Amino acid sequence: MSDSSSVYQSDLLNNETSNNARKGNLLLRLIRAAQPISRTEIANRLAIDKSTVTENVKPLLASGILREETLESEIVKGRKPRVLSFARDNDYFIGVNLGVRTSQVGLTTLKGEILSEDDFTTPPRAEAALDLTRGKIENLIRENADKNLRVIGVSVPGLTDVERRKLVYAPNLDWRNVDIAEALGVNGSVKVVVENDATAAAMYEARMKIRHTSDGLMTNFILVRSGTGIGVGLVIGGEVYRGTGAGRGIAGEFGHMTIVAGGKHCDCGNRGCWEKYASAASAASLYLGDRPLRPHESMPRFVEIVAKAENGDIRSKTTLEKIGDYLGIGIANVIMGVGIPRVIISGRLVYGWQFIEKPLKKAIERSIVGKLDGWSIEAGEPAGAVLGGALEVAVEEYLAQGLPA
Ligand SMILES: [Zn+2]
Repeated sequence: MSDSSSVYQSDLLNNETSNNARKGNLLLRLIRAAQPISRTEIANRLAIDKSTVTENVKPLLASGILREETLESEIVKGRKPRVLSFARDNDYFIGVNLGVRTSQVGLTTLKGEILSEDDFTTPPRAEAALDLTRGKIENLIRENADKNLRVIGVSVPGLTDVERRKLVYAPNLDWRNVDIAEALGVNGSVKVVVENDATAAAMYEARMKIRHTSDGLMTNFILVRSGTGIGVGLVIGGEVYRGTGAGRGIAGEFGHMTIVAGGKHCDCGNRGCWEKYASAASAASLYLGDRPLRPHESMPRFVEIVAKAENGDIRSKTTLEKIGDYLGIGIANVIMGVGIPRVIISGRLVYGWQFIEKPLKKAIERSIVGKLDGWSIEAGEPAGAVLGGALEVAVEEYLAQGLPA
């Protein structure tokens, strides 16, 4: 963490004029990501006094949102450390990832573990897909009748509206103006939040980064989610950036930037879009040399191409290397546009990382970004791109609202 970011954080927590909800939110986000965590570690990571931590934590302990326990298994400086974690074991959250081919519905708590996951093929029509999803949500609610459902988070492969209730447009599903919050709202009291899937995956990766570093919360990175399409999530100062004004929800739609003039036709109506060349799904047509399928032939799946490459198949290997090159060209453009030199790759594409990494980095080295010191590209978790992201959307919304007593 740089000096400037730690000053920024301590300002946020100490400045009396800053918003109380936001102060609490930073603290809660850190506790959630790094739990169980001691007061001393919180103070260090947020660069604030321990007394400020105690002052903020006290009402949360009193209302039963947090619990503090002695770690019996560890001794630090002659003492057994006291650590904080979320209590409220009865609060739960439902996540829905509506994917182009498959969808998932699952459940989590403030502890962060995924307690159930149900995968199903996405019906092509929005109405049928949402009916099916709603049935699955109702089942989960019945099975957890003794607990409190707090928020439902939904991740979608497309643009969302400013209020995060509707899917505005998903080119790969050909769905337009779908009021998802309305269709999945089980009753008036449970909020449904709809988020772009790359942004959701970025939220998930941000929590993982906070968990696995000793830094504060001011992480900055670009998340590139490559699966059926390509989506980009932007995390700036530890928070996702969605755009402003009428553009809220469009930030990160780089999958449809033109990368080959007059190139392959895309579902969005344009030609030569990045995702036609660098998504996991684009590997199939690249592998087939862009020829039409023969009778009884089916498109090879991405994991099949990776498996063949692992067994030494040259054509598969070349396909993945080409994807890496195209991915690198696009990533260099994105870094140039937003000025964040750290990139995390997420989604199905991660399975082929061993073949993709080298040509990807070569493409970046060729670009002007390659002249910078300290750019980095790393593979994230393929799982974060699906259900993990949708659940993250739900929990983040709950923490941002300020917790009910
Ligand atoms: Zn397109």
